[in-house]
Amino acid sequence: MTAPDDALQACSSCGSTVLTRLPLVLTDGTDVTFISCHVCEVRAWFSQDEAGGWTSIPIASVLERSARKPR
Ligand SMILES: [Zn+2]
Repeated sequence: MTAPDDALQACSSCGSTVLTRLPLVLTDGTDVTFISCHVCEVRAWFSQDEAGGWTSIPIASVLERSARKPR
């Protein structure tokens, strides 16, 4: 069993733990964490599910959730 935030502790690509972690709230209210690896420059977005686990979400989904809906 992995800790809920394991996904945020190491780079999914190179395993480095030298990461920038930036919690953000998207325009639609979704809590996400932005991860940027200092070693291989991988960038990833994660959202937390109801069980407390972190799931990576595609950048397209982030952009969609961040878009301001025209009125
Ligand atoms: Zn990396």
